[in-house]
Amino acid sequence: MEEVQKELNKLLELQDIDLRIRALDEQSTDGYAKLDVDQEGIDACIVEAEDLKERLEVVGKEKRDVEIELEDETTRLKDRQTKLMNVQTNREYQSLLKEIEHTKGDNKRRAEEIERYAEIAAAMEEKINNLETEAKESGEALATERAEVDKLTTDLEKKKTKIAKTRGAKIKKINASIYKRYEQLRERRNGIAIVAVTDGVCQGCFMTIPPQQFNEVLRGDQLHTCPTCQRMMFHQAVSEED
Ligand SMILES: [Zn+2]
Repeated sequence: MEEVQKELNKLLELQDIDLRIRALDEQSTDGYAKLDVDQEGIDACIVEAEDLKERLEVVGKEKRDVEIELEDETTRLKDRQTKLMNVQTNREYQSLLKEIEHTKGDNKRRAEEIERYAEIAAAMEEKINNLETEAKESGEALATERAEVDKLTTDLEKKKTKIAKTRGAKIKKINASIYKRYEQLRERRNGIAIVAVTDGVCQGCFMTIPPQQFNEVLRGDQLHTCPTCQRMMFHQAVSEED
C-alpha cells in the first residue's frame, strides 16, 4: 500500500512538472501564433496596395490616351477654325462648321472623361496611401511585439532548462515500466496520464468507474487505470470547499 502511494506521488509530481513545461511552451507558441495572424493582416494590406497600384497604372494609361486624343483634336479644331476664314463656298463653309461643332462636342466628352479618370486615380492613390501607412505602422508594432515574444521565449527556455533538470532527477526514482506507461498515456491523453477519482468518478474523462474498482482504488494497494480513458487513478476525497 505504501509503495503504490509513493509511486503515485512521484508520478503526480512528474505530471505537475510536465504540465508546467507544457504551459511554458504554449505561452511561447501562442505568442508566435498571434504574430503570424498580425503578419497575415499586414501582408494582405501590401497585396491589396500592389494590386491597386497595377490598376492605377492602367487608369493612368487610359487617361493619357484620352489626353493625347484631346490634344490632337484641339489642334485639328484650330486648323479647321483657321480654314473657316478662307473658305470659298457656302457649302464648304457649312460642312466645316458642322465638323467643328462635332469635334467640340467630342472634346467636351473627352475632357469629362479625363476628369473622371483623375477622380478615380485620386481615390485609388488615397486608398494605396492608407494601406501602405497601415502596413508600415502595423509592421513597426509587430517588430516590437516580436522582440517581446523573443525575449519571453528566451526567459521561458531558461525556466524550462531548470525544470528539465528537476525532471531528470525525478524520473530516475520512478519504476521504469510505470514511467513508460506514464509517457504513453501522456502522449495519447493530452498530457494528463494520472487523474483523481472523486466520488467514484474519473476526473480525466468524467465517467463513473465500477463500484468494485472504486473500492480497490480507495484501498490503494495497487495501481488502477480508468476503464474508459485508461489513465492511472488515485483517490481524492471530495474537498470541503466544494
Ligand atoms: Zn477516465
